[in-house]
Amino acid sequence: MPNLVNIVIPPLPQAYTYAVPEEIEQDVEIGSRVVVPLGKRHAHGYVVSKFPLTEEREQSLADIKLKPVSTDGKGRPCFSVSQLRFFEWIAKYYGDSLANVIDVAIPPIAPRKFQRLVQLIGLSSSASLRGALQRKIVERLQHEKQPLPMEALTREFRGAPAAVRALAAAQIVLVTEAELVDQYLPSTQAPRWAKTEVKLTAQQRDALGILSKALCAETYSPFLLHGVTGSGKTEVYIEAIREVLTLGKSALVIVPEIALTPQLIDRFRVRLGDNLAILHSALNRRARWDSWRALLEGRAHVAIGARSGIFAPLHKLGLIIVDEEHESSYKQAEGLRYHARDLALVRGKLENCPVVLGSATPSLESYAHAKAGHYTLLNLPTRPGSTQQPSVEIVDLNKIAPWDMPTRSISPQLQKSLLEVIARGEQAFLLYNRRGFASYLQCKNCNTVIECPNCSVTLTYHRTRNELLCHYCNLTMVPPQFCSACTPTEDKGPGVLEQRGAGTEKIFEELAELLPGVAIGRLDRDSALDEQTYRGILDQVRDGTLQVLVGTQMIAKGHDLPGVTLVGVVDCDIGLHIPDFRASERAFQLLTQAAGRAGRGDKPGRVILQTRIPQHPSIRHTAQNDYNAFAAFELERRVKTNYPPQSRLLRILASSADKTLARDTLARLRMQLDTFAREEKLPITILGPTAAPIAKIKTHWRAHMLIKAAAAPQLLRVMHVLNQERYKSKKVRLVLDMDPQDLM
Ligand code: ADP
Ligand code: ZN
Repeated sequence: MPNLVNIVIPPLPQAYTYAVPEEIEQDVEIGSRVVVPLGKRHAHGYVVSKFPLTEEREQSLADIKLKPVSTDGKGRPCFSVSQLRFFEWIAKYYGDSLANVIDVAIPPIAPRKFQRLVQLIGLSSSASLRGALQRKIVERLQHEKQPLPMEALTREFRGAPAAVRALAAAQIVLVTEAELVDQYLPSTQAPRWAKTEVKLTAQQRDALGILSKALCAETYSPFLLHGVTGSGKTEVYIEAIREVLTLGKSALVIVPEIALTPQLIDRFRVRLGDNLAILHSALNRRARWDSWRALLEGRAHVAIGARSGIFAPLHKLGLIIVDEEHESSYKQAEGLRYHARDLALVRGKLENCPVVLGSATPSLESYAHAKAGHYTLLNLPTRPGSTQQPSVEIVDLNKIAPWDMPTRSISPQLQKSLLEVIARGEQAFLLYNRRGFASYLQCKNCNTVIECPNCSVTLTYHRTRNELLCHYCNLTMVPPQFCSACTPTEDKGPGVLEQRGAGTEKIFEELAELLPGVAIGRLDRDSALDEQTYRGILDQVRDGTLQVLVGTQMIAKGHDLPGVTLVGVVDCDIGLHIPDFRASERAFQLLTQAAGRAGRGDKPGRVILQTRIPQHPSIRHTAQNDYNAFAAFELERRVKTNYPPQSRLLRILASSADKTLARDTLARLRMQLDTFAREEKLPITILGPTAAPIAKIKTHWRAHMLIKAAAAPQLLRVMHVLNQERYKSKKVRLVLDMDPQDLM
């Protein structure tokens, strides 16, 4: 009697029942990926339950023609039963199908790879060996404790395959097949700078002590570890993980993509050993899959990953850590729009384990939870030892005449500090959170700014490539000399296009002029195209080859580089004037995090903030290094305006090639929702529809609508109604975004 399985098939919402042929019975378990016939085609799916076909069932299923499943040679489970509950929760909350969630959660499967291994078995006298080659191979094998890959022998000795065949026939060596596992380990040797042992400070010990109790308790308990930049949060994580391992359990750490650098991994590896699996989308497919399997099969007990690491298949989970929990990049921006930090808490609840959210600048959501007593607050208010927080100076650009500026963007104060730092042989970071050379090209006559024809954003001028680039759709264009929007006038002639605004490339050029002979580097998405270049740039800072590094927000994140004693923010105001209720919060976080890169070693740090709005709370509180004051101010504003964390949000984004259809669709949905809310007495507020701040992307017009409610369940009911509408029109795409981070 065959077994039956329920299978979910992306993107379909329901599960289907299939029979399992006896030959592959062994290969089909909960969590297996299988190929099944679906109508006229074949589709991949995942086994979510398995049960024997009893006689009663046989009768009730008589009308349904069961189809046999077949594995595609990858029959082993891709996830564990305990993960299934987690996936189900996600599907429900974000309004997607279970099959889609699983598809997002598990990395692409890499086909299994085998290698042949050769080992010595017969200790025969060399007399039975024929020829020099056989003797050499046997000698080589005698020196090895472990079997050698055939490939290595072939590389070393010409004609090895034939010789090994002969040796195998004479039963002198044994050739076996073994699966090749290619788990990612960054470097075989830990770098010298990585500390092998750290004696925790009293503050760190206190925090760890409270955590330790929770680690033994086997219940869900959330913590907010609020530690100023450089206070040694990472060391607390590492020690907590060590305790988890001694308890025989496993730990999951998620860090922002950009912080998942080899340098951070080195720090963990030196202290935790090779018990580590790295999950990173930048890894090659086989390394990623092997890391996943090492966890699934219990060969590794600590997982470190970026956003998608939250799905890691750990057994007996004893601790989840979310570093830099405030990072908005934890929210997936398309497809399944999950928030990895929020999911960490959900997973902690499902698996009964502590969850630590760590940050120097906690999100207001987490801060409000901690204040309300939902999370235990752990504080690390100072840096370890004699290391101080950097001193901060605000430079009011309004007060400096243009002719007194050493360059267009660098103030005399920043120039002076740069020169001092360089003279002392220390290093400086300069933050300018905009890529490119000029922000935009503008006509001198009619002030027209060149925009992307597909997206309603300006094109950015990149000097090194000499092109105009759209940062949304990647359209590139040769920069024109004259404006095509206005006709040439007699007195002024044709409209000349001028470069306005600046980008990292421009700041780099200004610095090069200002500081001849100084080694200056640039770190942004255009200069660090791959992980290796990125690592290279950071290594050059660590070893002192680079004296000044200019960069976008990429330089503000996580780096622990003791030589950096000066951080200059060239323009604090970038990012403050955008229509997003989190703009102030994000600016405060970016500035505080950037400032926190200064003075992490023995030498004191200094920060210079250049701005035209010195009274802005984000800037003022950064200068005073006062997170609590900023949070109190900002929370009050959120209460007044009823935005998160005071309320919960659901964003509905519609886009269409038709200029009015997106908005019209939302207007219709709004009427429907108004009625629904009235009839069901559902306390929600609907804002919009309006055109989205970026009204067009990739030739599609965008409109959006925001729904506010006091709690998530109310929004889930709205989502349920909207989900029925979702696929009704092919001309409009509807995106439902729970707890949106992106409102543009
Ligand atoms: P955070 O994660 O809070 O930004 P880190 O854990 O990176 O801080 O610590 C900042 C620096 O201080 C690192 O170089 C770290 O090795 C060092 N450090 C942290 N705790 C201690 C300690 N107890 N003793 C000595 N050095 C420490
Ligand atoms: Zn574009």
